[in-house]
Order: sequence, then structure tokens, then C-alpha cells
Amino acid sequence: MALYSCRLLTFAFLGWLLVKLATAEFGEHSCFFAGALEPTQGGVEILIFFYADTRHTNTFFSSDIKKPGTGAGTRPTILSAEAVYCKALRPNFECFLGYDAAPMKVLGLETSCDETGVAVFDPDRGLLAQALHSQIDLHKVYGGVVPEIASRDHIRRLLPLIRKVLRDAGMERPDAVAYTAGPGLVGALMVGSGLANGLGLAWSCPVIPIHHMEGHLLAPMLEEDAPVYPFLALLVSGGHTLLVAVKGLGLYDVLGSTLDDAVGEAFDKTAKLLGLDYPGGPALAVLAENGDPQAYAFPRPMLKRPGLDFSFSGLKTAVMLQVKKSAEEGNTDRVRADIAASFQCAAIDTLVTRSIQAAKQTNLDRIVVAGGVGANLHLREQLAERFDGRVYYPRPEFCTDNGAMIAIAGALRLSDGSEPATIHATARWPLETLIPPGSANPA
Ligand code: ADP
Ligand code: MG
Repeated sequence: MALYSCRLLTFAFLGWLLVKLATAEFGEHSCFFAGALEPTQGGVEILIFFYADTRHTNTFFSSDIKKPGTGAGTRPTILSAEAVYCKALRPNFECFLGYDAAPMKVLGLETSCDETGVAVFDPDRGLLAQALHSQIDLHKVYGGVVPEIASRDHIRRLLPLIRKVLRDAGMERPDAVAYTAGPGLVGALMVGSGLANGLGLAWSCPVIPIHHMEGHLLAPMLEEDAPVYPFLALLVSGGHTLLVAVKGLGLYDVLGSTLDDAVGEAFDKTAKLLGLDYPGGPALAVLAENGDPQAYAFPRPMLKRPGLDFSFSGLKTAVMLQVKKSAEEGNTDRVRADIAASFQCAAIDTLVTRSIQAAKQTNLDRIVVAGGVGANLHLREQLAERFDGRVYYPRPEFCTDNGAMIAIAGALRLSDGSEPATIHATARWPLETLIPPGSANPA
């Protein structure tokens, strides 16, 4: 089929497929491809499949089905029912769907929100290259992320960034592509998903969807002093506040989450009230440096309640009322700094207290902190002071969204024998529904 090594056609075909699959509920119709091929594709020589979440996967030991570019395929290969069916109809087709578990250099693509992140991770040599484009300047004028603008900018940025990263890594193509499949803005996710799957078809390589929050919690694995399982993860970003017991790759117990605003969102909204630019979290932290954290006794919501959930809307309201009151009294720079410091103190106290409670409850003495708010210095100081165990952070540039965390998550999953690629973009995706790589698909 002319798709192999022909990118433009691949994209056109992929776009068409996405529409067809969405309407045809492909997972329920395993003859879809085979039937379509029969009358029309007489000259087909190679057929490349992607996995379409059919929920009926067969495991094969095959000597005649090989992975392109790797010579004889004597290793175990996982094939979907569709590939098996087509192979039976046309025995001389070369089908690629599964892959072996040898270490793979993985290209990671992150497009869930307002950062286009691209990186290559090599399990043997570590991170080979990475690049990031932030859309902050594009969204600043609107005071928040505009989804349509985000999607369009990902389209513009992805290919040039991929070319740069591959060049920096000294390679023409990776062994596999990993991409953020959710949660996030669905249009932005579809850009990464569509391109990753297009590249997978063009390069004949596996494509693996990654959960954005799994990427964040695995980001400290990029560092030399990486945490070992099990550990507690505190995931604190603009969209999420989660406490997770991480027992292994894909084995996540969500212990607590926010009932309303995420902590990063609370930082951003408070910063806006104080007249700071979007995204206000880092600017608020700078303003807080000159303020008195005891100036205002803002609430620590939920801390007196059992369980490990968070809530930040009450804190946000208390800050809003104080900002109004101070404005009536004549808002000075000093007062703004005091409000920033008191808010930060309350928000961070909530995070640290809950994390220590969760560590005690689960008997875990390692905490991984990830997500944008993980860059907050007051959070780091408080955890160092109050938590007896070890705390692990990714380096500052990998606290916020980036391609490196997606590349390493893909590499870890692939090296553990994860399932073949699925075209996937999911706006809402609970972390605890993930399964370890290589586990059987749910029936
Ligand atoms: P998301 O993926 O949900 O957009 P990120 O992981 O990219 O989140 O992190 C961005 C969030 O982190 C923003 O809400 C930003 O304000 C917040 N943030 C970044 N640096 C800091 C900091 N030093 N202190 C507090 N919040 C911060
Ligand atoms: Mg994030």
C-alpha cells in the first residue's frame, strides 16, 4: 500500500480513517478492513495495521510475520483479530502490528494544553534531545488558554520541533512514537494523536498513547537519582491536584483529588485578582517573597475532614473578599505581597499536610512531586522541613508539561511489553483506569 514512507498520503488516509472509525465503531466490526480491501486493493503488497481497541487480541508466535526493518520476525508478535483475518484472506500480505520488547528509542509528543513538547528518550543512553514551545504569549491577552488557538498552534509547531529534536538526537527516525492521549483539551490532543499515528504508519513503528498525569508522575525517572516503586505521588498542576499511591508502572491508587479547583488554577486565579499576568503561579510566588505569610489567616479547606481530598474554591473566595476589602482601603504593594504570601502559605500548607497524612496512611516513605506547582520553592521547603522521608522532583523544566516525560513513559511501557497503538484522544481519563503494560485487555 502506498502509505509506507509517503507522509502526505498517510495524513490524508489517517484523516479519512478517523472519520470512518468514529462513525463505524470499528471495534465492533472486525471485518471492516478486510472487506474493504477485497474488491479494490488488488495490487497491495504491504499492509500496515494499527491496533483499534477491538478488545479481542490474540497472541502469536510467528515466523512469517515480521516487523519492517528488523529482519526475520522470530520473536513473539501480538496481532489483533483484524490482522489475523486479513492475513488469512491474503496470505502473502506482510502485516505489521506487534513489536518485540527490545529497548526502543522513543519520540515523545506532548500537546494536551498550551505547550508543544517533543523529546527523544533512549532507554540505554537516557534523554537524547528535547524541545519545547510555550504558547503563553498567544493566550496572555485572553487571560487563559483558548482551546482553538492552542490546537492551531500545535499544528504549526509540531513538525518543525520533531525535525529539530531528531536532528539534535542524531537520528532519522525513532523506534517508536509516544503521545499524550489525554486528559486535556480534546482538539489539542487530536493534533498529537493524529500526527503520532501518521508518523507511526509512515515509519512502520509502534505508536503508544500516554496518560498525561502518568507522564508527570514518571518525570523524576529522567533524573539520575530516580525513585523506585512504590512511592506516593503528589501531582499538582493547572488542571489537577492528585495524591496517588504508585505501586508500579500502571498500578495507581488515587487516594485524593480536588473537589473543585486545581491548586495551579487557584494560584492562577489569585494572581489574576492581584493584577498579575497569566499564568500567574510563578509571578505570585515571586510577589509572595516580599510578603508576610501570617498577615491574613486564610482557610485551609478540608484539612479537618477525613479522607485525602482537596478543595481550593473556599480559599479562593476568602482571597477575593480580602482583595476587595483592601482595594476599598487603598491597595498598596505591601498589601498585595501580604495577600500573595498568605494565600501561598495556606495552599501549600494544605498540600503538605495532606501529603504527610497520605504517606502515613499508606506507609510510604518516598514522595514524588510533579506538575507545574512542583516548581514552587515554598512547597519544596515545607516538604523538606515537615516530611521525614525522601522527596523526588523532576528538574524544573520538566515540572511543567514537556515531551521528555511522555517519551520516557512510552519507553517504560514499551520495554515492559505494552499493548500496540490505539488511536486515542480523551479529554477526561481517570488515572486509576490505567493497567500495567502487558496485562490482558479488559474483556
Ligand atoms: P497543566 O498541564 O495543568 O497546564 P502544568 O503542569 O503545565 O499544568 O503547570 C502549570 C501550572 O503550574 C500553572 O497553573 C502555573 O501557575 C503553576 N506554576 C508554575 N510554576 C509555579 C510556581 N513556582 N508556584 C506556583 N504555581 C506554579
Ligand atoms: Mg501538566
